[in-house]
Amino acid sequence: MDKKYCAYICSGCGIGDGLDIDALSGVVTEEMTMECKVHECLCGAEGRALIQKDIDGGVNAVVIGACSPRVMTNEFNFGADKITTRANLREQVIWSAMKPAEGEKPSPDAAAFLNESAADYMRMACVRAQKTELPDPYQLEVLTRNVLVMGGGIGGLTSAKEAAAAGYDVVLIEREDKLGGKALGWRQSFPSRAPWTALEANPVNGLIAEVEADPRITVKTGTEVARISGAPGNFGVTLKATGTKSEWDAPAKVTVDEQDLINKGEKEDPNDGLHPYTALNPEALKIGAVVLATGWKPADVSQFEHLGYGKIKSVVTNAEFEKLAKEGKVPAKVAFVQSPGGKENSKDFPYSNSVLSMVALKQAHYVVDDNEDGQAFVLYQHMRTPGSMELFYKETQNNDGIFLTKGAVTLVEEKGRGASVTVEDTLFGETLNIDVDMVVLAAGMEPMTLHENSINLAYRQGPTFNDLDLFDGYADSHFICFPYETRRTGVYTCGGVRKAETMEETIDDATGAALKAIQCIESADRGVAVHPRSGDKTYPEFFMQRCTQCKRCTEECPFGALDDDERGTPLPNPTRCRRCGICMGACPERIIGFRDYNIDMIGSMVKAIEVPEDDADRLRIVAFVCENDAYPALDMSGMRRNGISHMVRVLPVRCLGSVNMAWIRDALSAGMDGVILLGCAYGDDYQCHFVKGSEIANRRMENIADTLSTLGLDSERCKTEQIAITDYDRIPAIINGFVDEIVEMGPNPFKGF
Ligand code: SF4
Ligand code: SF4
Repeated sequence: MDKKYCAYICSGCGIGDGLDIDALSGVVTEEMTMECKVHECLCGAEGRALIQKDIDGGVNAVVIGACSPRVMTNEFNFGADKITTRANLREQVIWSAMKPAEGEKPSPDAAAFLNESAADYMRMACVRAQKTELPDPYQLEVLTRNVLVMGGGIGGLTSAKEAAAAGYDVVLIEREDKLGGKALGWRQSFPSRAPWTALEANPVNGLIAEVEADPRITVKTGTEVARISGAPGNFGVTLKATGTKSEWDAPAKVTVDEQDLINKGEKEDPNDGLHPYTALNPEALKIGAVVLATGWKPADVSQFEHLGYGKIKSVVTNAEFEKLAKEGKVPAKVAFVQSPGGKENSKDFPYSNSVLSMVALKQAHYVVDDNEDGQAFVLYQHMRTPGSMELFYKETQNNDGIFLTKGAVTLVEEKGRGASVTVEDTLFGETLNIDVDMVVLAAGMEPMTLHENSINLAYRQGPTFNDLDLFDGYADSHFICFPYETRRTGVYTCGGVRKAETMEETIDDATGAALKAIQCIESADRGVAVHPRSGDKTYPEFFMQRCTQCKRCTEECPFGALDDDERGTPLPNPTRCRRCGICMGACPERIIGFRDYNIDMIGSMVKAIEVPEDDADRLRIVAFVCENDAYPALDMSGMRRNGISHMVRVLPVRCLGSVNMAWIRDALSAGMDGVILLGCAYGDDYQCHFVKGSEIANRRMENIADTLSTLGLDSERCKTEQIAITDYDRIPAIINGFVDEIVEMGPNPFKGF
């Protein structure tokens, strides 16, 4: 693209009051050799008309020096065929200006500091425009719009129905020989409408009939996935009869010790004869996206020996009791044990959740409904009845046959054909011994993804997607922001595999997952990314001639987007890619990049920052800031007029994982005095929008610290901090605290070399 540049500076919103706009304009025209125009309200009709007139006259690369790139996105959108870059002069310069401490005079250099900062941001925006190329979206040669739904329970049935209603053909597979899943065993479901007190008919049979009558849905019962290869928009799915082995089965995981024995011939190779992950089956079904609705299984309760499950016949789980209730075999006196009690008496059963509280209330109703003298005892530590279910709870409380109390169940003993239950620390402050016909334990809902082979992906990174072992096996990629998404693009979850849900919640959830699957197919068709960079037309491009087959990119991609060949050369699958750039950050050869975000561009932007020599008041600290949470938090910090040191220059990045250590080494060799990385929280409660980018960045930073020490630089010149979007008021302490540490260390000894 032949570029014709023009820069525009807005003097509104206080920018013109705090900056020397003429001098700033001079930096653009003289140093960056771009024409530069000033307007007092660039985002207004007149300001935009000024830009549009230039665009009509041939300008196609626009640099805006105004507010944050997070705001006025429509106002400064001049079309997909134009390049627009932004310098954040408002939130991160003017609004983040340091104020003198109480009783102190403002620094005589305060105005100069602000102008220097603004000039650097303009330089960086100009360089960004120079280094940006228009994207050429990746298009699949063949695209299919069919949806595969795995699981024929409430979730799967609903997803299939909704996807078909939206005009998509669906293949619905179910492991068992009939549709319905666990819901087939449920006698009734919870109240779903006002007055929220009456149990309702189980909807599953109606749903099965609808699905079976839908010409767009092909149902295959007694069927499992043997293998899923390919990528969103063009998956190849091989099916097999439930329980059978197939040549496409996932290779078994083999430990190093086992491999040793296999090599010596002392152990059989479980993967012998199986196809490698890259193999494609020409017979495979063509599928565009997958909904995983494989549900949950009751969690194990036999570990709580004092409750007698497995030893005492009259002790059953809630799922087993529901089955009995459906068959009309409800005993007259039943205790519902909601927490394991014993010594750790306020703890919950594994995988406990609010559904279990509501199940106990529902089943307590069965006891009184089916027996004239029925008595139900609900013994809980935590009663969780969210939303309108509180009304159901209150109705249950008022039922004479149902007795609810908080308490710790310390023992269940066999007594005749029933059992005796001991409950301590009850609400009445006394120990109770209750003799009942049956004891029902509130077994939790454990997600089925723990069964590795349920999805069987033919991906380099293994057959499933819980490579981080977080969240106890739940299949998610970001619990808060992207609830349906797994760590494998094109595979969307709903129901128990995602989180414990009631039938009613599962129906909503399954509709959401079906829509996400459709969105993914349509995004693949348009060649754009799905969340969190929805609509992004760029994708990572590899300069393979210089690839050393080090495999770092394939190993670190959180989404399994990169397979590789036998030699370790990456084999990209762009429609699996979320465009995070973690592979770019990983590559030691610096050969991965995007049209509008690459090693050269960010490196050049860092170099565009002016580094004053030998001036302790003018040290320079580069902040690589994740644009998902940390950058908005920084903007909000500015909106609240929190002061940030004038020595800091902020560079937004797609994810901290995309930060290539070359940028940091180059920044320090160019005389920068410190580098700080601000990204999302990692670990068990991770917030990273790309699952593990911030964690990877932290690990890389630990390694670079060692390198810095060998170069004679303090490793403390580099730091990583975890920021939540709500941390705007912590930002000044974090950044300015780091600046103080750098000031204490003194200027970078490489400055000027
Ligand atoms: S950009 Fe992210 S998702 Fe795409 S290949 Fe690279 S690491 Fe994987
Ligand atoms: S990280 Fe870079 S050099 Fe290593 S395999 Fe990937 S592309 Fe090749």
